[in-house]
Amino acid sequence: MNNTDYDLVIIGGGPAGLTAAIYAARARLKVVILEKSAPGGQILVTDWIENYPGFPEGLTGSDLVEKMTAQARRFGAEIETNQVLALDVAESVKRLTLNDRVVTTKAVIIATGASPRKLGVAGEESFYGKGISTCATCDAPFFRNSVVAAVGGGDTAVQESIFLTRFAKKVYLIHRRDQLRATRILQERVRENDKIEIIWDSVVTSVNGSESGVESISVKNVKTGDQRDLAVEGCFIWVGILPNTSFLKDTVTLDKGGFVVVNSRMETSVPGVYAAGDVRNTPLRQVATAVGDSAIAAFEAAAYIEAMENH
Ligand SMILES: Cc1cc2nc3c(=O)[nH]c(=O)nc-3n(C[C@H](O)[C@H](O)[C@H](O)COP(=O)(O)OP(=O)(O)OC[C@H]3O[C@@H](n4cnc5c(N)ncnc54)[C@H](O)[C@@H]3O)c2cc1C
Repeated sequence: MNNTDYDLVIIGGGPAGLTAAIYAARARLKVVILEKSAPGGQILVTDWIENYPGFPEGLTGSDLVEKMTAQARRFGAEIETNQVLALDVAESVKRLTLNDRVVTTKAVIIATGASPRKLGVAGEESFYGKGISTCATCDAPFFRNSVVAAVGGGDTAVQESIFLTRFAKKVYLIHRRDQLRATRILQERVRENDKIEIIWDSVVTSVNGSESGVESISVKNVKTGDQRDLAVEGCFIWVGILPNTSFLKDTVTLDKGGFVVVNSRMETSVPGVYAAGDVRNTPLRQVATAVGDSAIAAFEAAAYIEAMENH
């Protein structure tokens, strides 16, 4: 077990991966984060985080990423831009296939998070990036004084809709139920915001437009069956997330939704392989839960490596 490239490879550099790296580096493990794009994950597209402890005034997602990344680097964690294409756990030395090579490691933490779920309606694919977005922080400024739609009813949809009103003159919030799922404080804020009109009990059936971009969305009331078109120049979609686990085929056990199944020690079905954050089966997907998971995963991985080495 001594001739591996790393003691621990962390796949994904979001809040979960960065936290695992802080703990692992402080445990003096030879650790690398393999991140396919920029470190930060979903918080990079989060305008404002006000429920992460320690920052009473709140802070931007990019500020939090910067602090976490600096902390991981300070203790000696490596962060490499590379995508993990496959994981081989057939033997106790784990092998990861990257874009340019194969690396070996004693233990792995899967922290690949999740990606936005799509609506699966006509027009969605063709207008993606041309009026359809899942990132208000990135794209809201393009919709100054415009009318836009936001789809969803959870915390993300509601919080991001409120952010959209800094730019858009009106936001239709389309929700398929007759009440929002978002936290009460966010529900209160949305009700107090004159620029947001909630379209209850409704789903988007198509996104319509032309060469120049989105011009309207078709909306159906699921209770009455009534259809109507709303003239909008943009459509922001926040209807949940899908786990980034397609590269894990036939390795660790996944649940029906494709999330990695772990126990309270963040152990997957394979010894020496752990999962943390949004990618795992968990009732709450937030920064606070991601960092808690990863502290446990890194602690357990360190104990596993030590036990293997002393064997
Ligand atoms: C718009 C928005 C607003 C939010 N607001 C809040 C909030 O206010 N408060 C809060 O607590 N939470 C909020 N969240 C949720 C929070 O961002 C997530 O719970 C958190 O980012 C999960 O962290 P993670 O590290 O598990 O996963 P992610 O943040 O998804 O990071 C996973 C990383 O893994 C990388 N990756 C994926 N596959 C591979 C691969 N095969 N190889 C290499 N790298 C890979 C990805 O590029 C990504 O960087 C928000 C989310 C969104 C989208």
